[in-house]
Amino acid sequence: MKISGEQLIGRQSVRGTHGVIRAVDPATGETLEPAFGGAAPEQLEQACALAGQAFDVYRDTPLEQRALFLETIAANILALGDALIERCVSESGLPRARIEGERGRTVGQLRLFAAVVRQGDFLDLRIDPAQPERKPLPRADLRLRNIALGPVAVFGASNFPLAFSVAGGDTASALAAGCPVIAKAHPAHPGTSELVGRAIQKAVSDLGLPEGTFSLLFDAGLQIGQGLVTDHRIKAVGFTGSRAGGTALMKLAAARGEPIPVYAEMSSINPVLLFPHALGSRADAIGQAFAASLMLGAGQFCTNPGLVLAVDGPGLDRFLEAAGAAIARAPASTMLTPGIHRAYGAGVDALACHPQVSTLARGQAGAPYQGQAGLFSTSAEAFLENEALRAEIFGAASLVVRCPDLASMRRVVEALEGQLTAAIHIDEADYEAARAFLPALERRVGRILVNGFGTGVEVSHAMVHGGPYPSTSDGRSTSVGTLAIARFLRPVCYQDMPAALLPQALQPGNPLGLALRVDGEAQPGR
Ligand code: NAP
Repeated sequence: MKISGEQLIGRQSVRGTHGVIRAVDPATGETLEPAFGGAAPEQLEQACALAGQAFDVYRDTPLEQRALFLETIAANILALGDALIERCVSESGLPRARIEGERGRTVGQLRLFAAVVRQGDFLDLRIDPAQPERKPLPRADLRLRNIALGPVAVFGASNFPLAFSVAGGDTASALAAGCPVIAKAHPAHPGTSELVGRAIQKAVSDLGLPEGTFSLLFDAGLQIGQGLVTDHRIKAVGFTGSRAGGTALMKLAAARGEPIPVYAEMSSINPVLLFPHALGSRADAIGQAFAASLMLGAGQFCTNPGLVLAVDGPGLDRFLEAAGAAIARAPASTMLTPGIHRAYGAGVDALACHPQVSTLARGQAGAPYQGQAGLFSTSAEAFLENEALRAEIFGAASLVVRCPDLASMRRVVEALEGQLTAAIHIDEADYEAARAFLPALERRVGRILVNGFGTGVEVSHAMVHGGPYPSTSDGRSTSVGTLAIARFLRPVCYQDMPAALLPQALQPGNPLGLALRVDGEAQPGR
């Protein structure tokens, strides 16, 4: 399929008239064809108007049709074949195998949400039948279901051009909930965005859905993204990116006449806690596995292990030796964009120059656009005194905090901001010590893992990819896994509603055969 450089507004392809966006191959610095036109305010208006018109029709689609829609998007993405993979590799600098894997994940999560839609549990159907004889007061007939929130604006992520962009997790979960989506392409991969957008646009037409169910806009500045967040028809936002960007959008959304939720996944340093017995028995193996996780994808994962906490001693020395040796051997890696490469360089330089930080290892030098991994260390005291040492460095850099004892390691944990993950490395003899850390970790993170690392996030029912601010804007939710659909739903109760006016799912006799609760008792679906 040819890439035209046009936006997708409902069923139309329209060239943006406000500025130009050009993709750059980060591996060569070469500018890629074609040029993409940025959306003009009237084009934003058109996309929002169509989404607003589509909402009541799309949210009322039969579950089977909505599930088929998600599966058709998946099939249409696969049908793009190599053209999608090649464009995505050129725009991201990520290896082909990674992009193929990410396509598999993208298609897999669309199909998983199709299964969620068919099953219908997300509607959370509840019926409390009327009790006209109840004394002293009769009870009304009460019926509850979740409905879709409204049109959702989705900001594509730089580091997941497929799985967290135009047809990524935010879009899949919003469409599954019954929300039309307007995607704002990340400027680093506009060609990938257009190809995937066309796969969605075709699925909208294949299934005969209202045209405003999906639109894709390009933004040559910040105006269109901000316009989306403030448009009265948009009722929620999905975002993955920087803390500054996510926080700016949160503020805009909160300042609206009608504030709306922003689900922003932002910054996390994902502490790794090494306990003494685990270090005593297998420091080398943990060190090697840590280095591999740190350098995966040039460290450009939100779950990258950016912080290591351990009690000083020979076990920690062996860990550092193993991790340091692996890092020192590692070739430099191409980073996603020149901006991300610059930000990484600045973050690493600041750490290396900090008077209370030592450089333990650096990866091999490479081309000017490539990132060199880095391992640094500091004391618990210095870490507690310097807030700057707790900031995310997006890339393959990690800071090891040497703690004199477990009590000071606890103080370091208590000083941390909200995180997506925490990993604890323990042997059985560490269980008692680890138990004492769990309440502090639960308060701070969305996922606690044992003897592993947070990179490689499973897309499943029990996954949480979220956490308190600043890891996300709303720690009550997840952006990965089936629970992500809950972000785009809200409950509505129907009191004494005649059967003829009730939504089908709540009508007497359970005509759709979905699981529901009657007076709080779970009744399985048919
Ligand atoms: P970003 O700068 O936050 O941008 C993400 C998207 O939001 C882009 O489309 C961007 O548009 C838009 N945006 C940002 N600020 C905005 C604002 N004030 N108003 C309207 N739109 C806004 O993130 P990035 O480009 O992906 O990478 C930059 C840095 O983000 C990285 O160095 C890293 O620190 C962090 N990051 C973190 C994660 C994570 O998961 N923790 C993932 C990716 C990136 P423009 O590009 O047009 O400005």
